[in-house]
Amino acid sequence: MPADPARIVAADRRHVFRPFTPTEEHEAEPPDVIVGGEGPYVLLADGRRLFDASGAWWCNHLGFQHPRLVAALRDQAAILTHAAMASMTHEQAALLAEELVAVAPGGLTRVFYGDNGSTAVEIAAKLALQYWQQNGRPNRRRFLTLGGGYHGDTVGAMSLGGVDAFHRVFDPLLFEVGRADTSAGHDAAFAWLERELATRGEDVAAVVIEPVVQGASGMVFYDPSLLAGLRAAADRADTFLLFDEVFTGYGRTGPMFASEHAGVQPDLLCTAKGLTGGVLPFSAVLTTDRIHAGFGGGRARAFLHGHTFFGNPLGARVAREVLAVYRDEDVLGQGRRTAAVLAKGVAHLARHPFVRSARSLGCIAAFELGDGGYLGTFGWRLRGAALERGVALRPLGNTIYLVPPLVTAPSALEQAFDRLDDALVSIFANGRNDT
Ligand SMILES: *Cc1c(COP(=O)(O)O)cnc(C)c1O
Repeated sequence: MPADPARIVAADRRHVFRPFTPTEEHEAEPPDVIVGGEGPYVLLADGRRLFDASGAWWCNHLGFQHPRLVAALRDQAAILTHAAMASMTHEQAALLAEELVAVAPGGLTRVFYGDNGSTAVEIAAKLALQYWQQNGRPNRRRFLTLGGGYHGDTVGAMSLGGVDAFHRVFDPLLFEVGRADTSAGHDAAFAWLERELATRGEDVAAVVIEPVVQGASGMVFYDPSLLAGLRAAADRADTFLLFDEVFTGYGRTGPMFASEHAGVQPDLLCTAKGLTGGVLPFSAVLTTDRIHAGFGGGRARAFLHGHTFFGNPLGARVAREVLAVYRDEDVLGQGRRTAAVLAKGVAHLARHPFVRSARSLGCIAAFELGDGGYLGTFGWRLRGAALERGVALRPLGNTIYLVPPLVTAPSALEQAFDRLDDALVSIFANGRNDT
C-alpha cells in the first residue's frame, strides 16, 4: 500500500534537497508525485499521465518499466546484487565488457566501470593523465575542450565543462583547461583546437568533447565531419581523443554512437545514461589496448582508481539486457522511425511566432523560444502550459527539447506534439495581452 501522496509531498518539501531548484520554488510549487511509469509516460498519484519529454533526464531510451529490463533486474537480484571486483570477477561484468566492445567504435577493447556519467568522465581523464605521466611524457597535462561543453557535476567533470551558469561558483576548485570559444561557430572552434594541437600539442593529455551534440548547453548540433579533422590533428600530435557519449550514445543521435557519424574512433569513450536504459546508475569507459598496456610494469603503475560499485552485477546484468533488446527489437530501426516523427513535429511547430531554430537529429528535437529579455520567461511559461496539457518539459533556459524513448509509438509522439502546439498557441495569445 503506497503512502498517502500528501504525506509524500510533505516529507519531500521538509527534507529533500532538490537538484537545480531554488529553495523558494521548492516551497512554492508542490511537486507532482510519481507513482509509476509506462513507455514514455510517468503516472502521477492524482491519476494523470504525463508524456515525459525529458526522457527521465535523457536516459529513458527503452521506455519506463520495459518488461525485459525489469525481469533481468529481478533475476539478477536473486543471484548476486554486489561483489568487489579487483581480484575476482563475475559473469555479468565480464560478458558485458565483451558485448560493449563488440558494439563500440573499432579499437576500443578495454572497459573500466563507473557508476554515473560524471565519474566516467573523471575516470577517462585520469586514465589519459596517468598514462602520459608514466609513459615518458609527463608534460602532457593539459586538456583541450569545447566552450559550452558539459561533462557532469563532479569537480573534474566541471573543470572540463564550460556551461558557466552551472560552474562559475566553483571556479576556485577547477583546474585550467584550453577551451575553444564556440561563440563564432563550431568551424572556428575546431580550427582553434587543431591549431593548439599543432603548436602546443606536446602538452596535451587529451581533447575532451561531446561528439556531434552539445547537450546541456542547449542541444547544439555541429557538423560531424569536424570530428575527422580533430582526429587527424590529435594523431599528428600523438595525443588522445576522449569522447563523452554519455548523452549521445545508444542511438540517441541515430547510430549506436555519435562517433559513427564521422567514422571516427576515439581513444577513450564514456557511456552512461542509455547504457542501462535509464534503469540503474551505471557507466563505462572504453579504451584501447595501447592505453591499457601503459598501466603494466608493477603495482605502482596500476590505475589507482576504483569505485565501491565497480562492475555492479545488477547494473551490468541490466546493461547486457539493454544490448539484447537493441539486437532483438531493432531499437536503432525504431529510433529512425521516431526520428522521422520528431523531425516532422518540430518542423510544424516552427510556424509559431518566436519559435526559432527548430531542429532535430536522431531522437533529439529542439527549438528556441523568443530571444531573451522579456521573452526569456517563455521557456518556463511554456512548461506550465504544456504541463496542463499532459506534457512534461524540462527547458534549458529558452531551449525547449524532446528526447523521448527511441521506441516511442508514433501516435504517442504525435499526440504530444499536438498538445505542445496547443500550449504554444496559448502562451503566445497570453504573451501578446501581457505586453
Ligand atoms: C548527463 C551527462 C553527463 C553526466 O552524467 P551523470 O550521470 O549525470 O553524472 C556527462 N556528460 C554528458 C554529455 C551528459 O549529458
